[in-house]
Amino acid sequence: MLDAEIKQQLAQYLEMMEGDIVLKVSTGSDEVSREMLSLVDELATMSSRIKVEHTELERTPSFSVNRPGEDTGVVFAGVPLGHEFTSLVLALLQVSGRAPKVDEKLIDQVKNLEGNYHFESYISLSCQNCPEVVQALNVMSVLNPNITHTMIDGAAFKDEVESKNVMAVPTVFLNGESFSSGRASLEELLAKLGSEVDPEEFNNKDPFDVLVIGGGPAGASAAIYAARKGIRTGIVADRFGGQILDTATIENFISVKHTEGPKLAASLEEHVKEYNVDVMNLQTAKSLVKKDLVEIELENGATLKSKSVILSTGARWRNIGVPGEAEFRNKGVAYCPHCDGPLFEGKDIAVVGGGNSGIEAAIDLAGIVNHVTVLEFAPELKADSVLQDRLNSLPNVTVLKNVQTKEITGTDSVNGITYIDRETEAEHHIELAGVFVQIGLVPNTDWLGDSVERNRFGEIVVDKYGATNVPGVYAAGDCTDAPNKQIIISMGSGANSALGAFDYLVRN
Ligand SMILES: Cc1cc2nc3c(=O)[nH]c(=O)nc-3n(C[C@H](O)[C@H](O)[C@H](O)COP(=O)(O)OP(=O)(O)OC[C@H]3O[C@@H](n4cnc5c(N)ncnc54)[C@H](O)[C@@H]3O)c2cc1C
Repeated sequence: MLDAEIKQQLAQYLEMMEGDIVLKVSTGSDEVSREMLSLVDELATMSSRIKVEHTELERTPSFSVNRPGEDTGVVFAGVPLGHEFTSLVLALLQVSGRAPKVDEKLIDQVKNLEGNYHFESYISLSCQNCPEVVQALNVMSVLNPNITHTMIDGAAFKDEVESKNVMAVPTVFLNGESFSSGRASLEELLAKLGSEVDPEEFNNKDPFDVLVIGGGPAGASAAIYAARKGIRTGIVADRFGGQILDTATIENFISVKHTEGPKLAASLEEHVKEYNVDVMNLQTAKSLVKKDLVEIELENGATLKSKSVILSTGARWRNIGVPGEAEFRNKGVAYCPHCDGPLFEGKDIAVVGGGNSGIEAAIDLAGIVNHVTVLEFAPELKADSVLQDRLNSLPNVTVLKNVQTKEITGTDSVNGITYIDRETEAEHHIELAGVFVQIGLVPNTDWLGDSVERNRFGEIVVDKYGATNVPGVYAAGDCTDAPNKQIIISMGSGANSALGAFDYLVRN
């Protein structure tokens, strides 16, 4: 079932196992059960440390990964191939006794969690955001005997997905109740469980020379450039990695022919941590006040002080702002076609937005769903002509131009979209199961208020050194008024602003 190359790599990993493991398998006579059994048997033939036992688990087909005589609570329901193959390999290694590559602080936080936690994560094998959640929950399950985790492939358990109304992956349930949706790191999951860092720890920090706000490509680059000057550097990030965490394929990051967003985000974090940078992840800046030092207040109530600050808070998906959009978010309203597309297999959906991202999404989704309707506000699509040609060649796509989305309708989940034909002013309704919103981005700068000059789009106004109108405050990346928003451009401007800030420190 595994091809020769994967088998060769897997054999090397299996040699790293430190103890014996038992795979307890629950199978039926269906196709997925046969596939799962053949995978499990193949693993057992590749390592004498792996034994297979047949049993009945809560779901069939599924298998649990255990130590001899000790159930760990790590269960895979469905066949963990595709993007989840790495989750399987890591689970085998970690259950066998190999320590997970996780901060000691987080390991202690997991071990100290009290109470019983039964997690169930619904994923799709093509979802790039899912493995991080699956792997984090598996680590928790391996480290703490009171925690169990079952990964459930939505495609193999369609009835369950429908009955629980799961319309976005990954979706996590804790003890039967909805817990989280979307990408989340171990640190984020722990924070959600209430295991957080004490705000006093932040208040007690000495002032920084450079404090970077935002942990995307711009912020990571700024922090590295600042730290390499040997000055006291900190980075505050709501979600380290930024937009690239939601990016499937990156092919224009010069010198790297092809990579994936989450992989690049992990490399960014690793690179930043090579230096003496105080990384404060999962912390949100709330306000900026310029006194002798620049003061940044955080959502947790603490205040950080710094001689200079680099703002690199990037951008987020733009909402349409119509009734139904917020109510049905993750219940049919989606923003990430790569992640959530497979959940709409065989259904009718709409894509709102006719720019490059909208048309790319429509092309991608047309291969999975029954029918795609593209709604564009302007009289013409704005996407590149090569994308439009590709779109026009697809049989299951309808393009509606010069239309305004009025409402996303539904009961428990989306059942349609209402739009107005801007020429005739007639109102129309289409029945469908999902709406993918692809109408661009807005800068994450609302929190700054009037403390720093912004243009009418909310973008921070910077000069060629990345300096804002406030002495000592610099900005970089997608949150600025730079005309083009790309990874490599953000990284360049992050470096530029760090050098600008360093120059400011030297002169002052
Ligand atoms: C789906 C998608 C695909 C893309 N594909 C490509 C591509 O193929 N190639 C390419 O070059 N570009 C691509 N881009 C664009 C690219 O991802 C961005 O240009 C780049 O990530 C911008 O980097 P940034 O650091 O400026 O901002 P972001 O990546 O947005 O990072 C912002 C950071 O600031 C943090 N933050 C926000 N507000 C606060 C706050 N108040 N307090 C603390 N932290 C905060 C965020 O959590 C995050 O860490 C894509 C974007 C998307 C959405």
